[in-house]
Parts: sequence; structure tokens; C-alpha cells
Amino acid sequence: MTARAPSTTSVWTEDRTRERAAAINQLLMGLVALIATVVMALSNAIKDADLLVAGVVVMFLTTGGAVAVRWNRLPPLTIAILPAVNIVTIAVLELSSPSAGFSLLWVFPALWLSYSFGWGGALAGSIAATTMFWVTVFALPNAQFRPTMVLLPIAVGALSLVAYLTSRRSTAQRALLSKQGASLTRTLDGVRRQEELVTEVLDAVDFGVVRIDADGATAIANDAHARLQAVAATDEPGTRAIFAADGLTPLDPESEPIARARRGETFESELVWYGAPGRKRRALRVTSRTLPGSDGASGGELVVSQDVTAEVTALRAREDLVSSVSHELRTPLTSILGYLDLALDADGLPPSARANLEVVERNATRLLTIVADILAASADARGGISVTIHPEQTDLTDLIRAAVEGLDTQARGRSITVDDSGVENVSAWVDPLRMRQVVDNLLSNAVKYHHDGGLIEVGLTADRDHAWIVVRDDGPGIPADEVPRLFDRFYRADAVRHTSTHGSGLGLAISQDIMRKQGGEITVRSVEGEGSTFIVRVPVRPQARSTA
Ligand code: ADP
Repeated sequence: MTARAPSTTSVWTEDRTRERAAAINQLLMGLVALIATVVMALSNAIKDADLLVAGVVVMFLTTGGAVAVRWNRLPPLTIAILPAVNIVTIAVLELSSPSAGFSLLWVFPALWLSYSFGWGGALAGSIAATTMFWVTVFALPNAQFRPTMVLLPIAVGALSLVAYLTSRRSTAQRALLSKQGASLTRTLDGVRRQEELVTEVLDAVDFGVVRIDADGATAIANDAHARLQAVAATDEPGTRAIFAADGLTPLDPESEPIARARRGETFESELVWYGAPGRKRRALRVTSRTLPGSDGASGGELVVSQDVTAEVTALRAREDLVSSVSHELRTPLTSILGYLDLALDADGLPPSARANLEVVERNATRLLTIVADILAASADARGGISVTIHPEQTDLTDLIRAAVEGLDTQARGRSITVDDSGVENVSAWVDPLRMRQVVDNLLSNAVKYHHDGGLIEVGLTADRDHAWIVVRDDGPGIPADEVPRLFDRFYRADAVRHTSTHGSGLGLAISQDIMRKQGGEITVRSVEGEGSTFIVRVPVRPQARSTA
């Protein structure tokens, strides 16, 4: 960027500045002239008193004019009259007392012109002052060359140049400052507009958004957040009705999602009920995530809540329906099985009829197991599944080998290899029937969801406290966002929901409940397109506080 020489108007861009500068310059000029005159009068060095009085009067009039005239209403160049008149007035004063040194005063108007009108002013001021000086010298009767005739013009010229350069620099700096100021204003406007846009967008969406600062203060909360939370208000001022996922357990203020997020906790899709049972209430899924701050520190939390009341209510209605339907099915099924038993006990039953009745009995028994599972899952849908556990020291090796064998025909039919070479000799403190149910479920899932010709590996090992069963397949795997929901009742992955692969979405939920009741746990690792690994952990000996 190159700095521009100041134009005649650039210095006077602000009208009031122009007026004020003219008054200050002229007052200064007048004051110096007045002091010099007084000194002259006291030292009795006056040569021509009339000229001195004339000079002082003109100086006074010029000063009065500088203060009284509205220079801002006149063209900028008119203000040059003041220093021009001063140059002539100084010549008059110089003539009145040549030995007094009034000639030094020419520096003032010359500087004024340079500062105000750039290089043109500097040149004009220096020439005018020099000319007037020489005129006063040659006007004297005994005029002769003196060194000051050269020195004074040089001094005035040099000072004018310095004034011009200084003013040029300060003008350039002022221009830069005002440019930066304008750019800052534009940036601030942009930021403000963006902030307004974000606020408008946040207020338009129907999920609640709250941004919590690193120090726990609420920085932003949108309209939807306030709307969704409003149902939690109670008749008692200062208290709020907030309940856990079951809709019944009240949450104390410290456990409610926003309070937890303020403490820096993060959580994903937690179900919370706002509003007391029997009153207008909403089910919200709340997620809290940490925002990255500068230098890797936490930038606070972002809490997003979504109204899932309709979804949760529909889910419960479905569970209720399933539970009552399965309950209604159980009674006739039990009766069918009873009569089948009687029929099979009858003597003289032809072998073919017996074989048929046995098939009917097997399928009816299976049907009853399914109904029992559904009932177990939905009867106590809001808590865990009610299964009774009778643990004993169980040989897990035999149990797993029997389960693999039971699946052999099915796996072979689809050319799936089941490799159980990783099964070690381990026994554990479990309910053998329930444990078999869990292993059967994991193995049958591995076969059911696998593609033909796949590989399933089954492993069993133990450390000091736990036995570990691993069922690994190189099948289709499960998308990462669906993995956390696999153990939910009735949950089936998207990929299988609309296929002919049958299932109820209850197997894993029931298996997990069975394992937890025995002090164990099932975990899963799955990569879509690569396969899934289900890991069962169970204690090898009775626990101090049995959960069975
Ligand atoms: P079901 O098999 O009756 O649908 P489960 O509770 O046993 O119910 O399984 C839940 C869901 O988990 C299944 O619907 C399926 O989408 C997924 N799943 C379970 N095991 C596997 C596996 N080995 N590979 C891929 N998906 C699986």
C-alpha cells in the first residue's frame, strides 16, 4: 500500500476540526506576536511605532476573523487567507523594528500552510515568507547582504518540508485507522447477523438445544427447550416433576439431565419423563456432548432433547397388546399339550399317528416356549424380565458342545462351518437350562443372520473369577448406531426387519437379563460388513451376594 500525499481537503475532512484548527493556529500566532510586541515596547527597540501599531491591529483583526468566521461554510481553500495575511502582517512588524527578530514569526504561517495544504502549501508558504523577508530587507535604506537572508528561507523551507511529511504520515495513519475501523464494523455486523440467524434457526426447530459454558452457566437455550421443559412445572413453586425412564421413579434435582450436563457429564439418548404421572407429561430423549474448547480444554456441553412421547406411548401400547395376546394364547396351548399327552398315553395308537402327534407336541411345546418368552419380556416390560434362576456348578464345555451339535444340521444345510476348537474345559456357577438358552440364542443368531458358506467360531475360557464364552461370526455385522439397541426388547436391526428371516427381537433381551441375574453380562462388538462377536461373562463360583 502506498501513502497518498494529502489533498487540500483531506486535512479538513471534518468541518468542526477545520474551524477549531484555524482558531487555534491564529490564536497562537497572535499570542506570539503580542508577546514579541510587548518585549519590543519594553526594550525600546521600536523604529516605526505607526507600523508596529498597524501590524498589531491587523494581527488582532485576523485573530478575531479566525475565531468569528464560520470557515466550514466556505470552500476549504479560503482558510489560506489567514496564513497569507499573517505573512504580510509579519513583514509590517519586521519593518517597524528590523532588529527585533519578528522575521522568525514567518515559520508559523509557513508551517500552517504546509500542514494544511500539503506540498503546494509548503512551497507557497516558503516562497511567500522568503519574498516578504527579502522585501523588508531591501526596503531599508542601508540594505546590504546578510547571511540571514539565506539562512531564514532555508530554515522556513526545511521546517515546512518536515511539517508536510509529518502531516502526510499522520494522514496515512488516520486513513489506515479508519479503514480498519470500517472493516471491524463490517466484521461485527457479520457476526451479529450470524448470531441472529443461529438464534432464528434454533428457535424454529422442535428439539430443545441448550449450550452450557465450561463454568456451568447457560449460554444459549432455544424456545423448544423452554416449551419442552415447561410441563415439568408443579403447583409447588421451585419444584419440578422429572421421572426416570420407567416414568415412575422421581429424579432428584441433581440427577436431572441438565444438572448432570452442568457437571460436565456426557450421555446419549437417555429417556426422561417431564411431568407427573396422570398429568400432561412428555417423554424426552436427552443427549449431552462435550464441545471442544480452545487448547484442548472443554468448551462446555451441548444438551439436545427430543420429544419422543408419541413413540414411547406407542411402544408401550404394543407391549401391552403383545402381553395380553400372548397371555390369551397360553391357556389354550396348555390345554392342547395336556390333551396331546393324554392322546400319546393311549394304548393301541397306530405308529404313524403317534409319530404325527409327537411332531404336534414338539411344535406346541416350542410355541409355548415362545409365548412364555414374549410374556416374560412384556409382562414386566418396564423393569427387567422375570426369569427364575437355579444355579449349580455346571460343565460349560459339555453345554457348549451340545449346543453346537444341536445346530449342526441347520449350519450344514447352509454350508456354514462352526469351529469349536477354542472351547476349553471350564465349569461355572450357572443355571444350566438358562445358560443353554443363552448359548442356543447366540449360536442360532450367528447361523440365522449369516450368509451361506460363512464361518462361526465358538470359544470358552476362564480366568480366576469368570468364564468367558465367545461366539464370533464373519457375517453381515451390525451398523454402529444400532449396536446399543440390540438388547432392547423387540429390537431388530434395520437390515433384517423387512426380510424373510424370522425373529421376535426378544432373544438377546432375554439372554442379557438371564446373564445379569447370574452376575454376568453379554457384550457385543460388531463391524458392519465384517462380522459380530458376542462375549458372555459369567462368574465361575457363587457370588457373595447372589442375584439369583
Ligand atoms: P431375533 O433374532 O429374534 O430378531 P434377537 O434379540 O436374538 O432377536 O436379536 C436382535 C437383533 O440383533 C436381530 O434381529 C438381528 O438384527 C441382530 N443380530 C443378532 N445377532 C446377530 C448376528 N450374529 N449378526 C447380525 N445381526 C445379529
